[in-house]
Amino acid sequence: MTKYEPIESPDATTVFPYHDLTPPTPADVYKARSVVSRYLPRTPLVRSEMLSNETDADVYLKREDTLPTGAFKVRGGVTLGQRLSNEFYDTGLIAASTGNHGQSVAYAGREFDVPVTIAVPEDPNPEKVAAMETLGATVIKHGDDYDDAREWAEKQAAQKGYRYVHSANEPDLIAGVGTAGIEVFENLPEVDTVVCPVGGGSSVAGYCLTIGAIGGAEVIGVQSEAADATYRAFHEGHLDPGERVTTMAEGIASRVPFALPMKIMRERLTDMRLVSETTIQQTIGDMLTDERLIVEGASAAALGAIREMDVSDSTVVVPVSGRNLSTEKLRHAISGE
Ligand SMILES: *Cc1c(COP(=O)(O)O)cnc(C)c1O
Repeated sequence: MTKYEPIESPDATTVFPYHDLTPPTPADVYKARSVVSRYLPRTPLVRSEMLSNETDADVYLKREDTLPTGAFKVRGGVTLGQRLSNEFYDTGLIAASTGNHGQSVAYAGREFDVPVTIAVPEDPNPEKVAAMETLGATVIKHGDDYDDAREWAEKQAAQKGYRYVHSANEPDLIAGVGTAGIEVFENLPEVDTVVCPVGGGSSVAGYCLTIGAIGGAEVIGVQSEAADATYRAFHEGHLDPGERVTTMAEGIASRVPFALPMKIMRERLTDMRLVSETTIQQTIGDMLTDERLIVEGASAAALGAIREMDVSDSTVVVPVSGRNLSTEKLRHAISGE
């Protein structure tokens, strides 16, 4: 059983012998593309008139919200699921998630016929939980925040031999989500800057490896002031966990920086910025009223950031990383409270 016992981890999370922490290369992202394009549609890249006018730039939205599950993460889920070693087909997968990672793993489990257990914090986005259950996953509530749920899932994996799907220390997940960057590069090779929300950093790492490394674009990551652990780790050169996270954007509510995406970010990320919770709320509302788009808080962080940056006269891409805003938050956005 030692194979399923944790090994020493470079960060404050648990990793197992099957976690290879070697960063994927741009070539690995191209290989993942042959998987992703078999299971998922290509997503549109659409100019935003509202944001282009407001910023005096050409702003394009990479509409990851149009994927099944409503968020980019499923690109990584199908890539990992398709490559899953046979030994885990019966015991299955376990992951911790505030929602979208769980939906991605659940989607992969259904696609490849592997059982899935997802640990969520006690007070999850209820629509995300329902979506995971609809995809056939067993959802278990555990702990006050994402990282409490994560520690529980890691223990279960060690005890029962599940394949623990880490939310970022997984080269297949990063290569899989990186396929979005290849699509951007093919549609708009002249892009100057990609501005991407960051939780654990798998998504931004994928853009670094593609439109950054191959296209020469600047890649900028965005976190909330109320969940800035990865921002601090990047700027201060460590992997220390942060204090409590209080952001309303559960997609980026991560308290612990992750080693694998951080390696890629340190090598290729141009900068990281913070936005306020007020900016996130305001941007959710403006996207709804002016663009008729439902974006969740995590997406609104990056969309809000470009409104505060000077991007004039450049070509900017912002991923609409997810549309799974809870009904309660959607009501708030409509009523403007
Ligand atoms: C997970 C998530 C993010 C952050 O992605 P990381 O790869 O964890 O940095 C951003 N937006 C949405 C909608 C997400 O679900």
